[in-house]
Amino acid sequence: MNTKDFRKHAHELVDWMADYFENVEDYPVLPDIQPGDIFKQIPTEAPKTPESFEAIFKDFKDVIMPGITHWESPNFMAYFPANKSKASVLAEMLMSTLGSQCMIWLTSPAAAELEESVMNWVRDMLGLSKSFTGVIQDTASTATLCAILTARERATGYAVNEKGFQEQKFTVYASSEIHSSIEKAVKIAGIGAAQFRPIAVDENFAMRAEVLSNTIEEDIAKGFTPICVVSAIGTTSTTAIDPIAAISKICQTHKVWHHVDAAYAGTALVLPEMRWMSEGVEEADSFVFNPHKWMFTNFDCTAYYVKDPVALVNTFTITPDYLKTSVDGEVKNYRDWGIPLGRRFRALKLWFVIREMGVEGIQSTIRKHITLGKWLANEIIAHPDFELMAPVPLNTVCFRFTSGPEDQLDQINEQIMTSINKSGKLFFTQTKLYDQFTLRLSFGNTNLEAYHVENAWQLIRETASKLKQPQ
Ligand code: PLP
Repeated sequence: MNTKDFRKHAHELVDWMADYFENVEDYPVLPDIQPGDIFKQIPTEAPKTPESFEAIFKDFKDVIMPGITHWESPNFMAYFPANKSKASVLAEMLMSTLGSQCMIWLTSPAAAELEESVMNWVRDMLGLSKSFTGVIQDTASTATLCAILTARERATGYAVNEKGFQEQKFTVYASSEIHSSIEKAVKIAGIGAAQFRPIAVDENFAMRAEVLSNTIEEDIAKGFTPICVVSAIGTTSTTAIDPIAAISKICQTHKVWHHVDAAYAGTALVLPEMRWMSEGVEEADSFVFNPHKWMFTNFDCTAYYVKDPVALVNTFTITPDYLKTSVDGEVKNYRDWGIPLGRRFRALKLWFVIREMGVEGIQSTIRKHITLGKWLANEIIAHPDFELMAPVPLNTVCFRFTSGPEDQLDQINEQIMTSINKSGKLFFTQTKLYDQFTLRLSFGNTNLEAYHVENAWQLIRETASKLKQPQ
C-alpha cells in the first residue's frame, strides 16, 4: 500500500470508527452466534496473492463485525468494563504508526521519559505515596506475577533466580475472593498451588486480617516461608475492599511482601472521598491497577507501582552484550522492570487521555458511575422481589430475584440473565455468592448515562416478572 492509498483508506476507516461510536447502541451487545460460525467463514489457507483493501475491509464488516461483543456499548454491563475514550484510540493510531518498541531508553527516549512522567502523574492523581515508583505493564496478571517473583527473590537474596529452588517451601496468601490471576502467578512462579492459602472473608467479602495473621504464624511453625500477601481493593466478584492497613501491619511483622491488587477499583482513588479504600497502602510494597478497565484508556495498559524498584530490577535484569548502551547508568531501561523485552508505547495513550479529559473530567465521570451504582443498589433494596447480595461501594451490583420456590431460584435467575443477554439489548454476567447464582451488573462505560442503568433495571424487572407468570 502506498501512502496515497494509506491516506484514502485511513480516512475511510476513521469515518467508519466515528460512525461506530455514534451507533454502537444499535448493535446487539452480545452477538447471537454459535461456536465455529466465524471460523468457517475464514478461508483455511492464507491468500497467495495480494488482495484489495476494499475486499479486506468488506470482510471485516461482513464476517468479523457480526461476531463482535460490543464492549464499547453503554449496555455492556458484564465482567468489569474495559472502557476507553476517543483520545486513547487516536493515541493508539499514533503508537502503531510510530511502531516504537520501547524496550530500553535508547529505542525511544521520549517513550521512556513520558512513561516516567505519566506514572508520576497517575500516582499523584490516585493519592498514592510519592515513595511509589511506577512502570506500565500489559496486564494486572503480569504485574502480580512480577510482584510474586520479586517477593520470592527478595526473600531468598535472589537465590532462586541463580540456583533454582532448594529446600524452602514458600507460601502466598490472599482472600478466598481474590482474582484467579493470583493463583495463576503462584503456579507460574514455581511456588505450587498447594502453597497458596485462600484466607476466609467476612460478611462484606473482605479478608479477615486475624485469620491471615494466624495462618501465617501456623505456616511459619510448620517450616514454611511466607513470602507474599496479595490484598484486594475491589475484588472481582463484589468489589470488596480488604483491610489494607491491617494487612500491611501483618506483612511488616513477618517481613512479607504486600502486593495490592486494585485492578478495577484503583481508578476510583482519583476521588478523594474514595481514598478510605486505600488507607494503609503507603505501607504496601506494590500496587497495581488497570487504566484499561475504568480509566478511559483502551486495552491494554496496567499501572504497576513499587516501593523498591531496585528489588524489581534485580529480579528481572539481564543484559546481553547486544542490548548494552552508553547511558545505561543514567536512564530507566524498562525491559528490566518486568517480563517481556519488547514493550509498546502505552504511556502515549495514558498521556492523551489524562490531558484530553483533565483530572476533573475523569473524576466527574467516575463519580457519576459510582452514583449510578448506589442508585441501582437502593432500587434493589426497595424492591420486594429482589435481594441485594453484597455491599456496593462502587458501581458493581450483585443481586438476585427471590420471588419463587427456593429450590428453583438459581435456575430462574440464570434464565433471566440468559434470555436478556440473548436479546442483545444488554449484556451482563453472574457470580456465585453464598453458593447461590447471583446476577452481577458492572457499568463503567465512558458514555454511560443514568437512562442506561434505568433501562437495564427495567428490563431485568420485566423479564423476571414474565418468568414468574405461570406459562
Ligand atoms: N485483578 C482483578 C481484581 C480483576 O478483576 C482482574 C480482571 O478482571 C485482574 C486482576 C486481571 O486483570 P488483567 O486482565 O489485566 O490481567
